[in-house]
Order: sequence, then C-alpha cells, then structure tokens
Amino acid sequence: MQVVMARASGFCGDDGRFGVSGAIKLAQEAALSRPDEVYIVGDLVHNTHVTEWLRRDYGIKFVSKLSDVPDGKVLVIKAHGATPDFLAQAAAKKLTVVDATCPMVAGAQTLVRTLSAQGKKIVYVASDKKHDEARSVSAQAKGVKVVTLEQLDELEIKRPAETVVLTQTTLSMLETADKFARLQARYPDLEIRAHLCRATTDRQQAVLDLAADVDFLLVVGAPHSSNSRRLLEVAATTGLPARAVDEVSEIDERWFGAGIFRVGVIAGASTPEWITAAVVAKIESWKNA
Ligand code: SF4
Repeated sequence: MQVVMARASGFCGDDGRFGVSGAIKLAQEAALSRPDEVYIVGDLVHNTHVTEWLRRDYGIKFVSKLSDVPDGKVLVIKAHGATPDFLAQAAAKKLTVVDATCPMVAGAQTLVRTLSAQGKKIVYVASDKKHDEARSVSAQAKGVKVVTLEQLDELEIKRPAETVVLTQTTLSMLETADKFARLQARYPDLEIRAHLCRATTDRQQAVLDLAADVDFLLVVGAPHSSNSRRLLEVAATTGLPARAVDEVSEIDERWFGAGIFRVGVIAGASTPEWITAAVVAKIESWKNA
C-alpha cells in the first residue's frame, strides 16, 4: 500500500498570513498577551482537535454564547466572521475584539454591503443556511436571500437585472459551475459572482488530479467542515472510492480491500498536520507489516 499526498492539503493561509493558520496565529498571540482572558464563541475553525489544542495549550476559553464572556475580556472572532449584531453586543460588553475573520470572508461581507448600498438584491448560495460563514456574510445587509445549491434550480428571481448571486467560499466548484450555468441560461441578465476561495478550489482540483493516480481517497477532516465534505463530493464525481475520517481511530481497514494499492490522502483546510500525519503513518504501517 502506497500513500500519495494531495498537492494541496491541510491548513489554508500561507503559514499564518490568512485563513485557518492566520486565525490560529491571532488567537495564540492574544492568549500569550492576555493569559486566561481570551474567549471564542463557538469554534475558531471547524475542527474539534484545533479547539482542544487551543484550550489545552493556550488556555483559550470556548463558550457557546456571547453572554458567557465576562465584560472586559478578549474576544477572538472566528475565521467565518461575525454578524454586525454580534459585534455590537461585543462592543457593549467592552470586549477587546481580535478579528480573525478570513480576508476571503471579510471580502464577501464588504461586497454584500457595497451591493446593497447600490440597491442590488442579493442571493447568497450556501452549503447550509446555518453555516457560520453564511450567517456572518448574509447579515451584512437587510433582505439577503440565503439558498442552498440544491435549491438553485427551483429559484425564482423576480428582477434578475437588479440581482447579484454570491456564494460561500467553500462550495463545490464543479457543482457550482453546473448549477450556475443553468441559472444563467434561465436568467441571462442576472449577475453571478462565484466567490469560492483559492484554498477551496486548489484542494478540489487536487482531488481531481489524484483521481487518475490512486485507487482510493481518504479525506481527513471534521464532519462539520464544509470544505472537507466538498472534497468527498468531488471524489464521488470521478467514481473514485473515498471515505472521510476526523482522526486516525476512525479508519476501517476493511475499506482497503483487493485492488487497492495506492491511497490518496488529502486534509481539509482546517485539519491540523498532526492528525493527517497519524493517518498516513497508519496506512504506511500496513505496508510495512
Ligand atoms: S477555506 Fe478559504 S475562506 Fe475558509 S478560512 Fe480558508 S482561505 Fe479562508
């Protein structure tokens, strides 16, 4: 059994300049400068291993709602951004806000505000209407209609020439292109701006590149990580057998039956390297057994 690593895999963000690695770096710096005073509402990024690591090694406190953060403490905004209402409540509590919103998400937030100020109607396409990014971006202006990709074929747009369609950063590039081609055919005057981020498209393209070269694909990522789920969907379009695991203990040796010699491995954008390394070591240990 041979492991073939995807050419794009793991944390996005160029070693701390943006994305997941940037958000983690900002949270670490905040924790080092204000020990035991740093709070995050929800997950910083969609991976429980990262949450546990920051809690254990940096003393960051993860809470489920803003009212659980004591007044005057430090609040790190997650990579998926925050709604204006959430930020107003944080200001009222006199929290020191460290904004770890990924610039790709912040760009989408700005675009929503700009388009709305221009009088445009906005349709925002999300993987899940309750996804943190969908909430933070769609809340930037009143009246943004949030739909899922699955709902796009049935979507009726009353004034297409005055409407702009935007997307979450982590949708499937294949499915998005397909659905948008049909939508554009139905509404030629509609402006469609797919806003998929480079980290997402790079990882999805890496799956397509691997498909011709491996017998099986293992995606390493959390079940609630949108970009990791999309990698599995992209693999399905190629017919390549694939599974996703959150950590090494979830691997089932029975998946790797007859005819599987080369296993592709790709990690989602919020998966830490040590989790992926353990997965690779396990597969390679079968080779050496
Ligand atoms: S997946 Fe894209 S949008 Fe999400 S944190 Fe990474 S670079 Fe930013």
